[in-house]
Amino acid sequence: MQLAEPQDFERVLSSMCTEPHPAAREAAERFLATNPGDPGTYESVSALEERAVELLGEVTGHSDPEGYVASGGTEANIQAVRIARNRADTDDPNVVAPTSAHFSFTKAADLLGVEYRTAPTTDHRADPEAMARLVDEDTVCVVAVAGSTEYGYVDPVPELADLAHEVDALCHVDAAWGGFVLPFTDHEWHFGHADVDTMTIDPHKMGQAAIPAGGLLVRSRELLDELAIRTPYLESTSQVTLTGTRSGAGVASAVAAMEALWPEGYREQYRASMDNAEWLADQLAARGHEVVDPDLPLVAADLSVPMTEELRSRGWRVTKTGAGEMRVVCMPHVTRSMLRSFVADLDWY
Ligand code: PLP
Repeated sequence: MQLAEPQDFERVLSSMCTEPHPAAREAAERFLATNPGDPGTYESVSALEERAVELLGEVTGHSDPEGYVASGGTEANIQAVRIARNRADTDDPNVVAPTSAHFSFTKAADLLGVEYRTAPTTDHRADPEAMARLVDEDTVCVVAVAGSTEYGYVDPVPELADLAHEVDALCHVDAAWGGFVLPFTDHEWHFGHADVDTMTIDPHKMGQAAIPAGGLLVRSRELLDELAIRTPYLESTSQVTLTGTRSGAGVASAVAAMEALWPEGYREQYRASMDNAEWLADQLAARGHEVVDPDLPLVAADLSVPMTEELRSRGWRVTKTGAGEMRVVCMPHVTRSMLRSFVADLDWY
């Protein structure tokens, strides 16, 4: 059977992933048959994973981080909650997050037997006072989102880190999507800005690596060891990852993308994507739509056209927020000319 063509990116405005950088694509192909889950056998990809963590540390203000390249943000978030649960001394653990947190935390709570408490946001950002009302002595983790899935907004990370540490909980920052654009903004979001314990930052999103390349970063070895499981039949003696066999393609492509783009390439990409987001926001506002002011390169607007189906029939891929706004993610493959033809199609209604 002949395989269908994969989705091209020409009209994709909904995805938080993008076309891999050419160096990342090449590295992924070269390392396709390697397994960093067995570092004693696959030594070179294992060394590359150490480099990936070192580079992710540079991006996130940590000179000596621990962590690994996960399958994606979902795995990294699950593992962060698992670290927090395992180190805590309670039989009734809970995690406190803003309602804007990604649904992967619901999976984490379900899998790990942890109660999940969410507090309403104010202007799409976490409200530390509302979160404080949910925190108690059984709270093991306070989640801050740095680049929210729906609006691209950034929570007040230093305040949420203080809140976590008041009850000896961990502060986890989910920068899965925002992590490769935030270094070029004034936001306080990373290990160097606040007492952050764990972080999700995904090379396969704004980092322009091939899928699967998520990132879990941890402040210290001691925290990562909360995940360690003995591995009797491998040459290494323990494993901290959630999956066993893993993609060496993801690891190698993450390193290749970061070596090629950090920091100047990412800075240029941030500027181009942000310019596009602001341009689109202006175009939509000029047409009378209510637009959520973009903070990172993501535009949400209250569009009254019966959009999804009609736009879809013209090849566009757009999604809605939970509140029903249209949402456009200005990823690296989203160009100005693409947005111009999108706006022209909207004008047609
Ligand atoms: N966290 C955030 C903020 C996200 O936007 C996403 C996905 O878009 C995730 C986590 C989950 O990442 P993945 O789909 O790679 O598992």
